[in-house]
Order: sequence, then C-alpha cells, then structure tokens
Amino acid sequence: MTDTDHLTADDAARARHTADRFREVYGAAPAGVWAAPGRVNLIGEHTDYNDGFVMPLALPHTTLAAAAPRTDGVLRVHSGDGSGGGQTVELRLDALRPAADGGWAGYPAGVAWALRDAGLPVGGADLHYESTVPVGAGLSSSAALEVATALALDDLYGLGLTRQRLAQLAQRAENAFVGVPCGIMDQTAAACCTDGHALFLDTRDLAQRQVPFDLAGEGLRLLVVDTRVKHELGDGAYAQRRAMCERGARALGVHALRDVPYAHLPEALDKLAATDEEPGGGKGDGGPGTAAVVRHVVTENRRVEEVIARLDAGEARAIGPLLTAGHASLRDDFRVSCAELDLAVEAAGAAGALGARMTGGGFGGSAIVLVEETDADAVAVRITEAFAAAGHTAPRIFPAVPSAGARRLV
Ligand code: ADP
Ligand code: MG
Repeated sequence: MTDTDHLTADDAARARHTADRFREVYGAAPAGVWAAPGRVNLIGEHTDYNDGFVMPLALPHTTLAAAAPRTDGVLRVHSGDGSGGGQTVELRLDALRPAADGGWAGYPAGVAWALRDAGLPVGGADLHYESTVPVGAGLSSSAALEVATALALDDLYGLGLTRQRLAQLAQRAENAFVGVPCGIMDQTAAACCTDGHALFLDTRDLAQRQVPFDLAGEGLRLLVVDTRVKHELGDGAYAQRRAMCERGARALGVHALRDVPYAHLPEALDKLAATDEEPGGGKGDGGPGTAAVVRHVVTENRRVEEVIARLDAGEARAIGPLLTAGHASLRDDFRVSCAELDLAVEAAGAAGALGARMTGGGFGGSAIVLVEETDADAVAVRITEAFAAAGHTAPRIFPAVPSAGARRLV
C-alpha cells in the first residue's frame, strides 16, 4: 500500500481496514483499493428509460474494493457484509454465463463478464469489499459494487476506459448478467459525480454537466430518509411502468417520451384520451393509465430543467416546491410510491421542510428532504415521530452531502 496522505482521515482508515481484511481473506496484500459511492437522485425519476433527464448526486457512503490481479483466469470475490454466508465465491472467467443465479457475486462477476464480452483484456482477480452504502434502500449499493469492481479491473488491466464507458459496462452487467433492467443513471452517478455537485445527465446522448449544489454554503441540508422498506416488491411494477411508457410513446408516434415537448403535453393527453382503453388512468389494479404515465414523464423532464435553472441562478431554496411536485407526480400519476414514502414527505412538509420527494424506483427505499440547516434536526424528529405514530419501523435519517464519484484510494 502506498501512502494515504491525500485522503480524508475516514477514507484512509477505511482503505487500510479494507486492505487488512483482504490480507486476512487471501493471505497477501492487495494491489490497490478503489471506492465507488451510493447516490440519491435529486430530481428526474423514471425518466432514464425514456431517453430523459436525471440529476443524481453521490453520497459520502461508499463501497470499497481491495483487489489484486491473478494470472490463472479465476475470479474470487468476498464481501465484508456477510453476503453469501461470508464465503469466498470462486469463478472461472471463461465459464461465466449471464443470468445464472450467482447471488451477490453476480454483480462483480457480471462486471468481469461485461468487460470481457466487450473484447477488453481482463484477466482474473481477487476482490474483497467493505461498504457503508445501505443495501436495498434505493441508494444504489448495486451500482456502487459494480463501479468499484469495474474501476479496479480497469486499473489492474490498464483498460483506460472513460468514466461513461465504464458506467455503461457496469449497467450491462446488471441488465444482462444479473438480470435487473435498470437504466444508466445509477452507474453513471457512481462513476461520474463530483464533490459539491449534482450531475445533470441527458440519458439520450449521455451529455453531462456538473451543476454546483452548495448546500452548506447556502445554509441548507438535504436529508435522506431510508424508510427501511425493501423495494424488491416493485420489480414487476417497474417492468410494467416501462412497458406503459413504451406503449405511450408508440401511441404518440414518438421514439421515446423524451420527444414529447412540455408545451405539447395537453395535445398529447387529448390524443391518448381518444385511444386509451381507460382514459384518465385507473386500471382497477392500482396501476396508472397511459395518459398519467406520459404526464409524469413529460412533467418530470420539465422539473429537471427547472431545478437546473434555479441552481444556476443560485436559488437552491427555490427547488423545494419542484421536489414536492415531483413526489405528487410519482404518487398520483406514476403510482410508484408507498405509505411510508408518502408519510415521510407529508411529515417533512408539515414540519416546515422546503420540499421533499421519494428518490429511486419507489415502492420503498428512501425519500429526500430539503431543509434549512437550522431546522434539520427538528424535521428529522418530526418524521421519526410520524413513523412511530403510524406503527412503521423507525426510519434511518442522515444528510446527503454531494460527494465524489468513484476513485482509486491507494
Ligand atoms: P440497491 O442498489 O438499491 O441497494 P439492489 O437490490 O439493486 O438494491 O442491490 C442490492 C444487492 O446488491 C444486494 O442484495 C447484494 O446482492 C448486492 N450488494 C450490494 N452491496 C454489496 C456488498 N457490499 N457486498 C455484497 N453484496 C452487495
Ligand atoms: Mg440497485
């Protein structure tokens, strides 16, 4: 291990710990330690599979990968979080096959598979992970795991991948190997976010812009409220919403819902009302109608543009109502919220927050709450009390400090 002078005390301690654990597991020192963060999405939800806009920021919570190359074509992975009963999983690279249910090891194995399938000269490796990203909380621990792995392999094998390419290959691992049909946002956030910024990403052409988001400087805080409700139940609903977006785009004769300009939304909704089997939404199963799904995506893209305009104007406070409007749209039109997320947003508003919304795919996971720094503790207490009064599991609440994307620590 080389020196850690350039690191924060926390990163240095965690890098050392991860390297020590690697040594215990594999009996030799790692070649390096890499980190990739979890994320929250500030605005732009369920837009990334509609060629639309997203705006994630990286959390200070990271997944660390200590890694060393191997010359025998074997991949060994081990996680400090006890996944897979704390066992080391050993796989032959040339035997990796998509969609074989490899449990958690499918994420790192999928990354090695995606890199090799892209023709990149990746050989074997030993990897050990230590993570502070809450798992299954909608904060994208899966992308953190994938991107930490991809960056480690990129460095170990001198691949020279751009960050965006790295994110695309990590997404391919999750889509094609693990079998989760996620968009490109999470991996791009983990790979490309920078300290003190939210990342504007146009998911059509992958154009990016780092938008300054100086919460502390403006006396603001962004809280994450992890509802502790696992979002796995939403898998079927996610696929169903994607299919509905595609149906809406077809009915409107556009390639993707991104192509419906906000100014043309009224005409688009009229057109759908004339063709939709159940105009106005309400499929009887609690799911939305096509018009409602289209309205969410088109207005959500618009909200992303408005959030950027306000941040560029130095008016971070003014994004609050846009966050809350985004939540209403996800709850009422897209119908991917749940009681706990709605309660977090409602209690935050009642306690004087500037704005709040669910973040991530929905059906559980986390909400974000924008508050004056001076109100942050009181708002957190009010949300916790509201959960207790409703008989819900106590939420986990912590600040989302816009942090750095993936990087090599040592
Ligand atoms: P999210 O990405 O929102 O946290 P996912 O269900 O997409 O939730 O991904 C969580 C899965 O990713 C876990 O069930 C586990 O398989 C894997 N995972 C994430 N982080 C780790 C880790 N540090 N060690 C082992 N597996 C992990
Ligand atoms: Mg995930």
